Amino acid sequence: MANLPVLQFEEKILETVEQHPVAVIIGETGSGKSTQLSQILHREGYTKSGIIGVTQPRRVAAVSVARRVAQELDVCLGEEVGYAIRFEDRTSERTCIKYLTDGVLLRESLANPELNKYSVIILDEAHERSLNTDILLGLMKRLVTRRALNLKVLITSATLDGDKVSKFFSNCPVMTIPGKLYPVEIFYSHERPKSYLESSLKTALDIHTREPEGDVLIFMTGQDDIEKLVSKLEDRIRSLEEGSCMDAIILPLHGSLPPEMQVRVFSPPPPNCRRIIVATNIAETSLTVDGVVYVIDSGYVKQRQYNPSTAMYSLDVVQISKVQANQRAGRAGRTRPGKCYRLYPSTVYQDEFLDATVPEIQRSSLAGSVLYLKSLDLPDIDILKFDFLDPPSTESLEDALRQLYLIDAIDENGSITKVGRTMAELPLEPSLSRTLMEANEYGCLSQALTVAAMLSAETTLLPNRSKNTEKKRKHNHMDLPDGSGWGDHIQLLQIFEFWHQTNYSIDWCKDNGLQVRGMKFVKDVRRQLAQIMQKIAEGSLDVQTSGRWVESQQSYLKLRKALCKGYANQLAERMLHHNGYRTLGLKPQVVQVHPASVLKADEEGKLPDYVLYHELIATTRPYLRTVCAVDIKWVMPIIDKINKLNIIKLSGGIDRIQEGTEGNVSDMPKEEVVVAGVPDDSE
Ligand code: ADP
Repeated sequence: MANLPVLQFEEKILETVEQHPVAVIIGETGSGKSTQLSQILHREGYTKSGIIGVTQPRRVAAVSVARRVAQELDVCLGEEVGYAIRFEDRTSERTCIKYLTDGVLLRESLANPELNKYSVIILDEAHERSLNTDILLGLMKRLVTRRALNLKVLITSATLDGDKVSKFFSNCPVMTIPGKLYPVEIFYSHERPKSYLESSLKTALDIHTREPEGDVLIFMTGQDDIEKLVSKLEDRIRSLEEGSCMDAIILPLHGSLPPEMQVRVFSPPPPNCRRIIVATNIAETSLTVDGVVYVIDSGYVKQRQYNPSTAMYSLDVVQISKVQANQRAGRAGRTRPGKCYRLYPSTVYQDEFLDATVPEIQRSSLAGSVLYLKSLDLPDIDILKFDFLDPPSTESLEDALRQLYLIDAIDENGSITKVGRTMAELPLEPSLSRTLMEANEYGCLSQALTVAAMLSAETTLLPNRSKNTEKKRKHNHMDLPDGSGWGDHIQLLQIFEFWHQTNYSIDWCKDNGLQVRGMKFVKDVRRQLAQIMQKIAEGSLDVQTSGRWVESQQSYLKLRKALCKGYANQLAERMLHHNGYRTLGLKPQVVQVHPASVLKADEEGKLPDYVLYHELIATTRPYLRTVCAVDIKWVMPIIDKINKLNIIKLSGGIDRIQEGTEGNVSDMPKEEVVVAGVPDDSE
């Protein structure tokens, strides 16, 4: 630890921080930025006047780094050193070094715009260019002028273009910490492999059987492929002749791994044993695994991208950027000279890879962020003029405004409404916060809280709907509730209420293929959301779980109605002659209900006329995921609103929504589509 590059520059860092309100620190991954900077400033006494907050774009990094720093300082996690991620706060009165996700800091600044409890804010991993970090950069720029005397801001990055950030912060100093990276030899494939999984497998086995000791780090695109490769590697290594080479431990590493599995990558291997770590891009810069000498780089990453013109997300496996490729290679040279095997030709790297990764702000739906900015009430800020390091497109800002208008969060003048203001206080996406508010009116808040909690749990924690479990469930005659014909939201509610009736039985979860940890998390999230709603309503609300799912048709009706309000910009209408749907909006898309949905056709073979959907995602084709049947009566007023909504003019600090006649939904040609094919469920 003592020889970490950041520690060798302790004096210089302190001098820079002392003299400037903002500084950029650039250092190789693993140089000690995340774990040491906070400790250096703590030693110097910066925690006497406030907390040192260190933001991380990823939840797992916030937890892992906080754990590490607590260990180094020999304190209990949650005491002097703690972390806060959405729905999980492990800090106390005594916490003076706090790791938190960038989203949590944004939320804190809503309650306290001056962020007075912080003496130092470190925006870590800024190169990841997460949407929230980008917004924080803009907010920090304002804050440092207002708190010039008692706030220090550090922006740290492994690869960020320091000059650009420096310019953004009125030419603040940029410190580059020289990393001691050993040379890494790069090998390119002659051509793109047919299967990069097989190619990674072969390369890893070659390294294992032929190369001297040193751990192998393989970059894959997602959990599914990681699991497949881990299992194939285990089989193949087991079948190697005993004594022909050293032992090997195969370790997966991705964001959805339980914490106890994640920390395994930080323990060194036993003697005469090689670790083969199969990771997502989380190991690129967020988590540093020591001991890696060989890197296998598929050249791909899985990325969620939002297209504002179709309001559709797609989860695409895309080529990485040159910056990412170099980061990946760099992982091999931390302890000694290493080797990086790129499973693509050098011409692909040169000609096809983008220089830098596209920032998330340019590939996300901005409804949540725009609502957030509007709720800050910054008098001199027009959303279009907000100081972004890289501004989003006008198209995506307009898309966000339209979405917010349809769910009543902003009015025709583009001003935030009372409803919008309350929505912004909830740590949920706009559709769900709007649903909770409406549910409160209809007297079905308890049910809506459950659905919001179920949907907010990370997808992998949710009921495992993989084919395997489905088969197992059928085989054991296990019966999860089926949504009573209303679809997935109702099913999620029923699952939770059923579980509640079993007194939260662990065995029941296991018997039904539900992840125990995930379900417990949902229960906790639900409790927290209920508390927030209580606070907002300043009174007593009925948030008790009823547990009477069998006979609660009445509450389903109310809940579906509330959901319809919340998801006003995520509705679809069935097409005339078959079960394809067309989304309602200015640019309707022809879509299908995802086959994993519990929504099934009726006896006449028909799906409901109208549904709302939680997500519209293009895999092999555009699919609606997690859908709920709604009534035409509730949809009609929304269609009126869509028809009214023509364009949003962004002018002079006020975003105006103009009424118009173009883009009338009912004028849209009715397209037909053939329903066929099963999607690739690789995400
Ligand atoms: P940077 O932020 O510059 O990428 P870090 O501060 O994350 O660097 O890492 C510095 C060192 O601390 C690395 O050698 C890394 O392996 C180690 N480290 C970081 N987190 C943990 C952890 N949770 N457990 C064990 N070691 C860790």
